[in-house]
Amino acid sequence: MGLGRRNDKASRPWRLSAKLLIVSSVATVIGFSAICASVMIDMRRGEEALAHQTLENLASGIDADISRNVELFDLSLRAVASNMVAPELNQVSKPIRQLILFDHAATAKHFGAIQVFDADGKLIVDASTMDPAHENRSDEEYFSVHRDRPDVGLFISRPMLHHGAYAIVLSRRITGDDGSFRGVVAGSIRFSYFHDLFSRLSLGPEDTITVFRHDGTIIMRTPFDLDVIGKNLSHLPGVKRTLSEPSGYFSRNAASDQVFRLYVWRDGTRPLVVLVGKPWDDILRLWRTEATRIGAIMLALIAFVLGVTLFLAREIGRRAIAEDKLEEMATTDALTGLKNRRKFDSAIDIEWRRAARHKTPLALLMIDADHFKAYNDTFGHQAGDEVLVGIAICITEAVRRAGDCVARYGGEEFAVLLPGLSAVEALEVAETIRLNVLQWSGDPPITSVSIGIASLTPDPAIDWAGLVMAADRALYAAKANGRNCSVLASVPKLSLVA
Ligand code: GH3
Ligand code: MG
Ligand code: MG
Repeated sequence: MGLGRRNDKASRPWRLSAKLLIVSSVATVIGFSAICASVMIDMRRGEEALAHQTLENLASGIDADISRNVELFDLSLRAVASNMVAPELNQVSKPIRQLILFDHAATAKHFGAIQVFDADGKLIVDASTMDPAHENRSDEEYFSVHRDRPDVGLFISRPMLHHGAYAIVLSRRITGDDGSFRGVVAGSIRFSYFHDLFSRLSLGPEDTITVFRHDGTIIMRTPFDLDVIGKNLSHLPGVKRTLSEPSGYFSRNAASDQVFRLYVWRDGTRPLVVLVGKPWDDILRLWRTEATRIGAIMLALIAFVLGVTLFLAREIGRRAIAEDKLEEMATTDALTGLKNRRKFDSAIDIEWRRAARHKTPLALLMIDADHFKAYNDTFGHQAGDEVLVGIAICITEAVRRAGDCVARYGGEEFAVLLPGLSAVEALEVAETIRLNVLQWSGDPPITSVSIGIASLTPDPAIDWAGLVMAADRALYAAKANGRNCSVLASVPKLSLVA
């Protein structure tokens, strides 16, 4: 019927708790997710730092080994170059000369025999034999570079086939006391040296080690690929940095296999630079497994917490609705749907104190059905009930403001609380109600109502019972006045006015 029931659920603590539960659960989930994400980011940084360190150490180790061997070999070349210009050398026999030149020369299984070429490129001395073959190397770069430029120092050749094996040739100029070009001393380091060195390392299948000459030429690479050996990669930005900065790192997709790797180098100032690369997939594999595991557990936990939260919130909501219904039932008159006497008493108490605070009037209508006993006796209680419902509708149609309270006071008596209304305004409402009832009642009317009206601005000296009493008296006066009329009580004297 919608008889002006006021919905005052907003302040329900349960409703608030459901929201609070959801908000706190979501905040907890966000908090834990943030902690989890931060831990995973830290773990990732740790893995990256470890990879950097490992690759730096690897690069340093390889670099040190290569540098040591190159230096060792260079020492022998220097010794031969300086001995070759000693004038006494021409006065001794071949075996003695051989002894003088190569007795202290570095020999190892990966080093080729040291050879000496005269100023025309003709092989004149060979550490491996007393009778060197007829050879002329004047066309080779490792010879011509020294002939053309006196300041080259140690020259490392491009990788080449040298005496039947892939090798790099190391050469030095032989300079006479007068600064003239006297020839070149050269020796080779075979690729087997690098193969041997790299095979001693434990590398991942996609790890790479590249040895560059200082001009960007690839001297050696593992995994071994003859096609890339000897190529110049100095145009690549990463390689350019490798050759110009003493140490550093970069990440890029390798041109050869498109694998995204971290590349690290150390000691980029030496004649040969070592660049080691490791695929990011390998570096982050452990971290990814761990992150996936933790992420999955977190997702499951989040789903569980949110599920439980939603379930609890729904239960709390259901309970709140049930409580609302219960409270409504406890404060509602079952027959008419109006507020019951209990609710009316609490409403008048609240409104009385509010009116006292604001010093505003509070009006009360007491409405009573006329000759209702007789109607009941004639048409029965059920018909009487229908009339009571009809009167209730007539009253609520006339009373529409939010603060107004329409209640069934008892039996066939109704009370209407009208906060803020003066006596005259309340009388207008009362007349509307009375005429509503008459109109609804038909012709001849089946019922009518008498209304007692009182309105007063609360005085601390009296309580609201005085207002009820005044309205009640006015109602008696209306009855005495012949019924079907409204009577206004005169307050504060509480005298009656017809
Ligand atoms: P008056 O004009 O002086 O008010 O006369 P009245 O007959 O209306 O007054 P009285 O107090 O003598 O009778 C009230 C009657 O209201 C008595 C009872 O039968 C009837 N009544 C009270 N409550 C209900 C109810 O819930 N349903 C029905 N059908 N009748 C009710
Ligand atoms: Mg009556
Ligand atoms: Mg009565």
